[in-house]
Amino acid sequence: MRKKLLAGNWKMNKLNSELAEFFGDFAKELGPKGQTDILFAVPYTLLNEAQFHGQKQGIRIAAQNVHFEANGAYTGEISLAMLKELGVTATLIGHSERRQYFAETDQTVTKKTVAALAHGVMPIVCVGETLAEREKNQTEAVVRRQVEAVLEAVPDPKDMVVAYEPVWAIGTGKSATSAQAQEVHQLIRGILKRRYAAKGDAIRILYGGSANPANIVELLGQPDIDGGLVGGASLKPADFAKMVKAGG
Ligand code: PEP
Repeated sequence: MRKKLLAGNWKMNKLNSELAEFFGDFAKELGPKGQTDILFAVPYTLLNEAQFHGQKQGIRIAAQNVHFEANGAYTGEISLAMLKELGVTATLIGHSERRQYFAETDQTVTKKTVAALAHGVMPIVCVGETLAEREKNQTEAVVRRQVEAVLEAVPDPKDMVVAYEPVWAIGTGKSATSAQAQEVHQLIRGILKRRYAAKGDAIRILYGGSANPANIVELLGQPDIDGGLVGGASLKPADFAKMVKAGG
């Protein structure tokens, strides 16, 4: 049985000075913590302060990106050792905004995933098709390519998480239907099981793309949807708490 994971992606939002209020409100809205794992992927500048608050509530804090090299002349980048020094144990990898605006490719996503696993940092690997790709019936081919590129280089997935995020649904208010999402999650599940057998069945596949309190119950009710990667709604304590509670 896969444990549900609700992961918030704060993108480039919030300041350290806002965190005490956010986590206080979130704890109040959530009430007693249930079975669902909770994680926030926050900007680098918030990692320390967010961990301080998160630890008290059993909430895991993740980075939103990491570089695959150990160190060197990579101005503006952050290494896995740097994250680990702060006690960070998870990171998003290959979010579509990184692929779109920062030239991330299947190759860099693969290198980052391999490096994260080697450092014992849980990678949340993001995949998903654009609207143009979906309209050309390329969803399966694109997602298969993105997932298989990573899997080829990863003999043991350890605690890897995959997030299916159709690009056309991110930040648009237009979520995939639960049937559309399940169809792609099932495809990913099949790829994971072929590669890793039972271990592939244990990998959590999150759905991301305009998930909110109104649609999360139906999404989480799908057999291969093991949680959510949530952007906008994770910035609002009441909304995100409702979504976490929907996970049980
Ligand atoms: C995301 O940033 O990963 C995301 C899914 O955003 P939103 O929930 O706002 O669509």
